[in-house]
This record gives sequence, structure tokens and C-alpha cells, in this order.
Amino acid sequence: MVSTDNEAEALKQFREALDKETSDKYNDEEQAVQQLTDTVKWRKENNVDEYPVATSENKLPVLYAIRGFELEDANLTPAPGLSESVLRIASYMGGSCLHKTDKDGCPVYIERLGYHAAKEIAKYTTVDEVVQYHIGCNEFLHRVINKQCSAKAGKVINRETVVFDCTGMGWYQFHMPALQYLRAVSDSDQKYYPETMNKLFIVNAPSAFVYVWKMVKGWLDPGTIEKIQIFGKDYKEALLDHIPAENLPEFLGGECKCEHMPGGCVPSPIVGNLPPYVAGEQNPKVTTSYSTEIMEEAKTNPLLRGQTV
Ligand SMILES: [Zn+2]
Repeated sequence: MVSTDNEAEALKQFREALDKETSDKYNDEEQAVQQLTDTVKWRKENNVDEYPVATSENKLPVLYAIRGFELEDANLTPAPGLSESVLRIASYMGGSCLHKTDKDGCPVYIERLGYHAAKEIAKYTTVDEVVQYHIGCNEFLHRVINKQCSAKAGKVINRETVVFDCTGMGWYQFHMPALQYLRAVSDSDQKYYPETMNKLFIVNAPSAFVYVWKMVKGWLDPGTIEKIQIFGKDYKEALLDHIPAENLPEFLGGECKCEHMPGGCVPSPIVGNLPPYVAGEQNPKVTTSYSTEIMEEAKTNPLLRGQTV
């Protein structure tokens, strides 16, 4: 791709600021083998297989809102056993929900990206906490939700569709330390959860997003970039092509309102459709998503790892 000198320079600076080590230049096959080896090693070193996940049997609190799955609809709440870090991270996020399924039977994850308090995320949370939270969410998605979606669809479902709504986005969100968090999360996903994205729709993108996208694109694999579609206000047809209207929130052009739940389809204290998340005594200050007791118990109790016993 041809880019102007200015763009090339901006990209170069961005990469230098964010990336101390350039990505290794394996060929495709070597890279695939390397990736698998790294993933196995990383999962072992971080006890990822032992990460607790919420199920209807173990009644662990969920890490984000869920709608329309076998597991009862739920919101994030300061339930006992949930760490204070999860509530703190979520309180700076614009709102997120695993909301029903697309036409392929894949779960749809919706995030109000435009309402993220980017500076606060960077200032008041650590990369480690955010990565831990992300692992907790990913493991829940793969071990609990995808399993249920597979059973329902009668085929293997191992990918999710993602909708990032940029409504509310402004220049203040394009904040370097905050983007480093995005980088850490997308790096971890690409390295350790490869091929788990069905499609990613970025909607209501402001024109300034073009500049950020040029930089973000530099961190992503070509395979990931192919699955991403970016829209301004003209996204409704594309979303409805992919997601049934009854499964798509009304504010994104569908018919769903989730009136039975506080906060509706995608609850958010920042948007103001849900009260703030306030941590209490029952929410210990640890880096992991759940309390140390639950993290420890999950090592020996398969029920907490999402297995039925
Ligand atoms: Zn809904």
C-alpha cells in the first residue's frame, strides 16, 4: 500500500512508542507452529485452563452483561467473589454485553467503545488487571457461551462477532497510554486466541477514526484486518445482513430492547442507564477477576472451571 511521507512517519513514531520489539518475521508455517507452541506454554504458565468461569451450576458472578443464552440474563454487579479490579475497569468502560447470536449462531459481543473513559483506564488500572479481565471474559466466552451456542446450532461455534459502537467518540480518546491497553489486549488475542473472531463491525466511526485506524492496523494480522468493517452512520444494512433484527439492539438499528433487564441491551453507568459499580468489602483488591479463594478453588474444582460434574 502506498502512503504519504507524513503518514509513514506518523506510523513509524507510533510503532516506536508502542512497540519495543518488532514482530518476528516467520514464514506462515513456522509462524503457525510457533503460535501453537507459544499458546500452550502461555496457557500453562498462566493457569489459563484453571481460570474460573460463570455457569448456571456454579453461580459465579459474570464479568460483563449477558443476554439471550442458556445462562440466565445477568448484569455485572458487585457480587461477592468478584474482584474490585473488575468493577473498577468496568466503571471506566463505556458498556459491554454479550448480546444474543448472529445468523451463523455465533455470539455477538457489543461494546460502546465511544464512551470509554480512556484516560481513566490508563491512569487507574494496570495492564495486568486489564489483561486478566480479558482472559476471564475470553475463557467464559469459549468454555461456556460457545459451548452452549454449538449445542443450539448443532455445529461447532468457536468464533464471536464483535460490534464496536463509536458513538460519543472524541479526540480525547485517542490517548497514547490508553491505546497501549488496546494494544496489549489485541496482542494477547492475536497470540493466544487466534481465529476466534467471526466478524468485527466498527460503527458510527467519526472521521478522525481514520487516523487512529491507520495506526491500529499496524498491530493487527492481515487475517484479522480482513474481518473488520468500518462504518460511519451507514452501518444498519450491514449489521442486519449479519444479525437478525430481533437479536440486534434498537439503538443499532434492530428491534431488541431487553426491557426486562436494568440497562436494557447494553448497560452502562457512563451512558447513565445503570447505576455506578461500587466495590465493597466482598470485592477483594486483587489483579485477577475473581477472589484469590475462588482462583485457588478452581484449580481443584472442575465445577468452577465450567465443567459439569
Ligand atoms: Zn437486547
